[in-house]
Amino acid sequence: MIDTVDERATDISIRAAVCPVCGRILYPIPLVCSCGQVHDLDGPPWEEREIAGPCTLLTWTRLKALPDGFTENEMILGMVEFSNGVRAIGLLDSESPKLGMELEAEVQPCNAGEYRHGPRYVLKETSCVSS
Ligand SMILES: [Zn+2]
Repeated sequence: MIDTVDERATDISIRAAVCPVCGRILYPIPLVCSCGQVHDLDGPPWEEREIAGPCTLLTWTRLKALPDGFTENEMILGMVEFSNGVRAIGLLDSESPKLGMELEAEVQPCNAGEYRHGPRYVLKETSCVSS
């Protein structure tokens, strides 16, 4: 039996765009930058970059009422910041999250729910910041 989730996992990524006017890195990619530059096909191209790797945990929350399609009883969502200032939310793989801890953001396919097969961040511990 072919596992379609694994097939799709080989070419998924989460991307941000660089505004060609002000240089801000924007995620999620908006239609209009806060400087007023419109992202359209007629304007200057917006460079896209994959966003993943080392990041810092800013905050987290535990979800205990998951929507249909999820088999887990709960999940922990974390908001992280990458070194380029991009902030994102992902599934936090930690039993004892601590604000400021260093994490590694990997892009994996969502395994359930409305966004099945879409990319999501899985945030894994690298080392803890002592407090
Ligand atoms: Zn801009």
